[in-house]
Amino acid sequence: MLKRHIYKILLILCCLCLSSCGFGSGSSGQADTEADQARKREFFAMDTYMTFAAYGAEADKALQAAEEEIHKLEGEWSVTDENSEIYKINHSQGEPVTLSQDTARILDFTLEMARQTGGALDPTIYPIMTAWGFTTDENRIPSREEIAALLKNVGYEQVVLNGNQIRLPAGVELDLGAVGKGYAGDLAAEILKDQGITSALLDIGGTIQAIGSRPDGTDWRLGIRNPFGEGQVGVLSVSDRAVVTSGDYERYFVGDDGQVYGHIIDPSTGYPADTGLASVTIIAEEGKVGDALSTAMFVKGPDQAEEYWRNHRDFDMLMITGDGQIWITEGVRDSFTLNDSFANMELHVITFS
Ligand code: ADP
Ligand code: MG
Repeated sequence: MLKRHIYKILLILCCLCLSSCGFGSGSSGQADTEADQARKREFFAMDTYMTFAAYGAEADKALQAAEEEIHKLEGEWSVTDENSEIYKINHSQGEPVTLSQDTARILDFTLEMARQTGGALDPTIYPIMTAWGFTTDENRIPSREEIAALLKNVGYEQVVLNGNQIRLPAGVELDLGAVGKGYAGDLAAEILKDQGITSALLDIGGTIQAIGSRPDGTDWRLGIRNPFGEGQVGVLSVSDRAVVTSGDYERYFVGDDGQVYGHIIDPSTGYPADTGLASVTIIAEEGKVGDALSTAMFVKGPDQAEEYWRNHRDFDMLMITGDGQIWITEGVRDSFTLNDSFANMELHVITFS
């Protein structure tokens, strides 16, 4: 429980850092007009702190609608809420379940990303998450036998989704932890845009949606967190992009054996992914893609992630390795600046050629 609170406090600090980066820096020295004032909403949902900020006369109303959307989606997608659709699916004992449009769509998307990433992303990982205690914060190291037995119930191919009908074999359980926040951010962004908002920054527990640019037309400046400790390794300038980071510095535990076990699991082994990455940040047009890929690339590790990028190239990526190197794809090379105190980190550019 204590760890959970520390985690939340860290998230608040992270939110504060991000929002100060987004809103505090780069002031042109002009007096703020009313339209330049960010309206903000801060709330807790989907097990994380969210900070939504938007500019414009209609900002308050639009932000309220966006927050309501998040709570609605949380009600549908929570894995623990007995009234959620995911809970219903996980307790369906092999019977078909009819889904809302939101849930059918996110599952369709997640299964497609599971296929595309060769199963590095797998929404059926939940029984393994439970075995490691990540769902209750009572962490433990399961035995090899226990993991091997549970892996029989893991595999996105076992999910049968037909339109808005889903059927899971008994024992298979879904968890949208790896894509839900990014997907929810897309839907929240859509609501804001529908209400005429052209400049907003949504921080969904470290998953960032930048709508348009700052009111003065310049890029948002987003801090990339230092996965090894305090502070931010650098700043990424973006407009109209989702920026999503996965790493095992957020949720992890240290086992009796002294090893660190993170909350992103390699579905092919049932063990926490340990591929030499400290964090992966994906820069994509859509939050759902960023969220799915940040988790999947963390599982794949630097070499396979680079290969995946070469084969797709519809996103950019910044990887920080456990030994302190930064690997960045060429599309965002010029948008990223290392902070002075991290200036000695090795920076490598991944080019297509
Ligand atoms: P966060 O939610 O901390 O931002 P991620 O987006 O990387 O981080 O999602 C990690 C969560 O996704 C885990 O807490 C777990 O619920 C779930 N998960 C862990 N490993 C996988 C995986 N290989 N594929 C799909 N979901 C996963
Ligand atoms: Mg993710």
